[in-house]
Amino acid sequence: MAIATVDPATGETLKTFDALDADAIEARLARAEEAFRSYRTTTFAERGELLRNAAGLLEAGQDGIARTMTTEMGKPLAAARAEAAKCAKTMRWYADHAAELLADEVPDAGDAKDAGASRACVRYRPLGTVLAVMPWNFPLWQVVRFAAPALMAGNTCLLKHASNVPQTALYIEDLLRRAGFPEGCFQTLLVGSGAIEDILRDRRVAAATLTGSEPAGRSVASVAGDEIKKTVLELGGSDPYIVLPSADLDAAVRTAVTARVQNNGQSCIAAKRFIVHTDVYDEFAVRFTERMAALTVGDPMEESTDVGPLASEQGRFDLEELVDDAVNRGAAALCGGKRPEKLTAGWFYEPTVLAGITPEMRIHQEEAFGPVATLYRVNSLDEAIDTANDTPFGLSSNAWTRDEDEQERLVRDIEAGGLFFNGMTASHPALPFGGVKRSGYGRELAGHGIREFCNATTVWYG
Ligand code: NAP
Repeated sequence: MAIATVDPATGETLKTFDALDADAIEARLARAEEAFRSYRTTTFAERGELLRNAAGLLEAGQDGIARTMTTEMGKPLAAARAEAAKCAKTMRWYADHAAELLADEVPDAGDAKDAGASRACVRYRPLGTVLAVMPWNFPLWQVVRFAAPALMAGNTCLLKHASNVPQTALYIEDLLRRAGFPEGCFQTLLVGSGAIEDILRDRRVAAATLTGSEPAGRSVASVAGDEIKKTVLELGGSDPYIVLPSADLDAAVRTAVTARVQNNGQSCIAAKRFIVHTDVYDEFAVRFTERMAALTVGDPMEESTDVGPLASEQGRFDLEELVDDAVNRGAAALCGGKRPEKLTAGWFYEPTVLAGITPEMRIHQEEAFGPVATLYRVNSLDEAIDTANDTPFGLSSNAWTRDEDEQERLVRDIEAGGLFFNGMTASHPALPFGGVKRSGYGRELAGHGIREFCNATTVWYG
């Protein structure tokens, strides 16, 4: 895949970049190692000051980077601005909390004595240089979600960003340099995915984190496994959105639309499968479809646009194949199911609702990465849970019920890394984020995230 900015709203190639050659990669690996030697000895207060500088610079230049993101991957401009603001907030959150999250853990005096120590503790020390392989869908957020805690922990970072967001990738390196991070603390590698294996095998890379598709995750995790290097994987999702009879149906319908079409439908934590109790199914289906059909699809730079183009031609092709397969096997398209007639340039697709999904349809098992919702009618809570869990993925989940017994049952039985009641899944720096099953392993954000790339060192004093 060429490293290039291609505007998904027009299909026009705006800028291309040469991939780094072997010498340039070697120079960056050497710089990362050199930087780690001194950066690891800095204090939390020093790192926090740099990260707060970065947050301020990001806010000051918010509109510019938002436009770059929209140009490179097509998200509506308002969403791009919100993404930049969330990144600044997360930088400050880790600047404020890292010292406390990574404070020494001290066992009970009695346990220390029993272990033969006069005292003991666990010290969270940085691991070294962490390689991040990141996707284009939240091109700033995915990187900051990893980099803010990694840098606060004292690690140095190498970023291999998706090939279609090179300008955003270079912006992040520049932002952190302007904020005062020493040379080599955070470097962007403009390379194709074929270069990743050698970089990951290099002794100067300690660990890797990947957000992206299952094949990419499998590939990086296999190499890292072969090298016995730690990985965190944040992969795909096909999150259920369960609506039960006690739901506030107005709110459930309104939120369902946002949960499905946020980021033009290209979010790992978007609600994708709408599992609705038969008592409220018909009403939900009608109202949800009306709202999906009424969305404004168009130029993502326009403030009035709800849904922009898909990020790539291939992405639209993959989505069309999934929808066509379902319709050919008997699913009903309640709205959409095709490209918008008036938007012939770019990679637009109409918001779509599919009903009558059966297990043999590909969309039942695969992730629909675009504005396509599937509807399931269920007769009981048990059936809702079975349907929700009938997927290879386990990222997050949503359930609308005001019944506390039902909520407890769902907390016990839903196979996912998150469960959001009467709302939609959203990440927050204070709440861990990640999945089970084929959605990956490990956690980002909160204390769980910052400790992933630390050496939890047992310190024993005789
Ligand atoms: P992708 O093709 O897997 O790309 C993600 C990153 O991996 C890119 O930097 C890509 O580089 C690189 N890559 C691809 N194949 C690789 C390989 N064999 N070895 C090493 N690196 C490789 O994913 P995508 O289709 O762009 O992104 C969408 C997927 O990401 C969806 O499945 C979505 O659910 C998932 N996602 C998950 C989360 C989460 O937090 N769980 C968040 C966002 C997205 P190139 O661009 O150069 O190919």
